[in-house]
Amino acid sequence: MATLEDPLRLAVGDKAAKRLDQALGIRTVGELLAHYPRRYDERGELTELTSLRDGEHVTVQAEIAKVTMRTMRSRPGTILEAAVTDGRGSLTLTFFGRGRQDRRERELRPGVRGLFSGQVSTFRGRRQLAHPDYELLGTGDPAARASEFASELIPVYRATKEISSWKIADSVQIALDVLDVPSDPLPADVRSRHGLCGYADALRGIHRPVDRGDLARAKLRLKWDEALSLQVVLAQRRLAAADYSATPRPPAAGGLLAEFDAALPFELTVGQQLAGATIAADLRHEHPMHRLLQGEVGSGKTVIAVRAMLQVVDAAGQAVLLAPTEVLAQQHYRSISQLLGPLAQAGQLGGAEHATRLALLTGSQGAAARRGALLEAASGAAGIVIGTHALLEEKVQFADLGLVVIDEQHRFGVEQRDALREKAGEGRPHVLVMTATPIPRTVAMTVFGDLDISTLTELPAGRSPIVTHVVPAAEKPHYLDRAWERIREETSRGRQAYVVCPRIGTEEPGGTAGRGKPAGRQDDGDSPADDISGGADDAAPRRPALAVVDLAAELERGPLTGLRLAVLHGRLPPDEKDKVMRSFTGGAVDVLVTTTVVEVGVDVPNATAMVIMDADRFGVSQLHQLRGRVGRGSHEGLCLLVTEAPEGGSARQRLDAVAATLDGFILARLDLQQRREGDVLGAAQAGRRSSLRLLTLLADEDLIGRAREEASGLVAADPALAGQPGLAAVIRALLDAERADFLEKA
Ligand code: ADP
Ligand code: MG
Repeated sequence: MATLEDPLRLAVGDKAAKRLDQALGIRTVGELLAHYPRRYDERGELTELTSLRDGEHVTVQAEIAKVTMRTMRSRPGTILEAAVTDGRGSLTLTFFGRGRQDRRERELRPGVRGLFSGQVSTFRGRRQLAHPDYELLGTGDPAARASEFASELIPVYRATKEISSWKIADSVQIALDVLDVPSDPLPADVRSRHGLCGYADALRGIHRPVDRGDLARAKLRLKWDEALSLQVVLAQRRLAAADYSATPRPPAAGGLLAEFDAALPFELTVGQQLAGATIAADLRHEHPMHRLLQGEVGSGKTVIAVRAMLQVVDAAGQAVLLAPTEVLAQQHYRSISQLLGPLAQAGQLGGAEHATRLALLTGSQGAAARRGALLEAASGAAGIVIGTHALLEEKVQFADLGLVVIDEQHRFGVEQRDALREKAGEGRPHVLVMTATPIPRTVAMTVFGDLDISTLTELPAGRSPIVTHVVPAAEKPHYLDRAWERIREETSRGRQAYVVCPRIGTEEPGGTAGRGKPAGRQDDGDSPADDISGGADDAAPRRPALAVVDLAAELERGPLTGLRLAVLHGRLPPDEKDKVMRSFTGGAVDVLVTTTVVEVGVDVPNATAMVIMDADRFGVSQLHQLRGRVGRGSHEGLCLLVTEAPEGGSARQRLDAVAATLDGFILARLDLQQRREGDVLGAAQAGRRSSLRLLTLLADEDLIGRAREEASGLVAADPALAGQPGLAAVIRALLDAERADFLEKA
């Protein structure tokens, strides 16, 4: 008998073990049993041969049509060719033999069906598998194994040159036979509550399903293992985090927050009030808050953050607001200064009585400004420090850091959150993370699963909707002319507009114009267009993406002559960026021609129109986020997505989807569908990827939600899982893998 941890050779013998290790890196019984089939072929259902691609390693089910044998001319030996068919397409199997290949000739007879495995190539215009492995089906021949026929379903494994699918299946069968079934990692009551089969059953069912129903039961059960262990890890993390101490920052009567609220020019939405109350309660605890605030673009997250920061300042602490770009940090500094007015002018003429101070700290500000800001932060004079990731540097110190707010999360990783936490000295600061885009619930529960979540779904009243149109510039060039006319109409009514391009300009360092990725990327928010459109449906080489600098010059000469244009991108010096944004905010600029530096957070209510050039080079969520810059005031917003992508192609469908809805949650799901899930998880947290084999974030949303509830209950009742040795072992293995992954990356 063998256990899951046993080396493979104990179960399947040296030879097979060695081959599995070399081919797939599989070393233990458990790893082999976790190598699930990639698909299941119905017995008798032939593989579609026309879909095969050169270079692919395939396992196909086909019928032998014709066999020929000839001797080689140049050297001794024979070539046996068997043509196999699926009824439509055909494929040649080519075998070279030193001698006469009698056995093969006997086995490979017309009419016989089998599984054939090898690498696809093309020889003299014909698709072939050179020297494939094969396994014949149902001939009564010794080469056809009865074992495959216990079921209508034939498991097909991800195989390689070194090892065929059915050799893997053989080893799996042996492993299943000798496996000493481990204690079930799913607690019995969880299993019974959700109608799940036992572990041993599931392992057998995933590898050797009797029928589709059996397979479905096995999959469901194994998905639960994945979801539950992931959620238990997160629940344990939440619990551990709650063990840290933090200084409670209860609201104070008659403080800055109260004065701020009294002067606020608008009513908070119900969502803002609820989230605000939750955060206010979190901050009074002696354990740190770890909260994710997610909300639709323009739902008013900033004011929630400001109120939380003021509560902390009222309680004698400091707060930090971390922004992903310099443009956004500067904007926050300006707008929060304005919102707070005299409340942020301590020590200045006209400052309020208990006033605090704001400091701005960015990577590229001048030495004197920087020194001043560092001093204000370290002395505690500045209650609120706003900045970019420059805030993470070691030199930056605080007198009493009580709250860290991370705006527009998707640019900050876990490590950065940790770097800031460490600045709080003894206790840990409270942490509020705000997302740039609504994120699908399951992503929130997995990628950000160690955070509590608040969601803002409504926009403040009085917002006008944004109207979005796709402008097909290649098919209908006059539509583009019309777009520029619309911009002129907006500006003639005293409104302002953005024109967004994927690239800065021709003279970029490194000079790789072409894929829409700004080369030599600066650290300031010219995030490359996601550029996920390339390849698949338009293989033709693309012209370089449009550039801000070039287009601005063209517009100035042509369609937008006479308007006040300005250019903004990450390569401008910081004070220049600040100047441009100030004049745009102040209305001294009509049209801002810009890169994605304005993608997140930028808030100029008088800007009502946006033209996004080469829109197909941006991702769905990115477009939604960009479009969120207009329609922030009471005037209707207009967003024009200009593209040369052909109608009906996948790029155009994406743009149509963005035009069709303003619901960021729907678009976030669409975005997730189009990325590989590993990218979503892998980018955010090492190790997660390897733990998700069957589970998909979109399709298994309900299951993940239920697993989360079960996990929270389990961990609350028994934090170390003393009563669940099976589950505890799985979690240990998961954490080890995560650690190994992390070390590998470091
Ligand atoms: P986001 O959630 O995208 O970060 P912001 O915080 O930038 O949105 O808010 C967008 C705009 O809405 C800002 O100009 C802000 O002052 C305004 N705003 C926020 N809350 C309200 C409200 N309750 N009523 C009216 N306007 C609001
Ligand atoms: Mg914002």
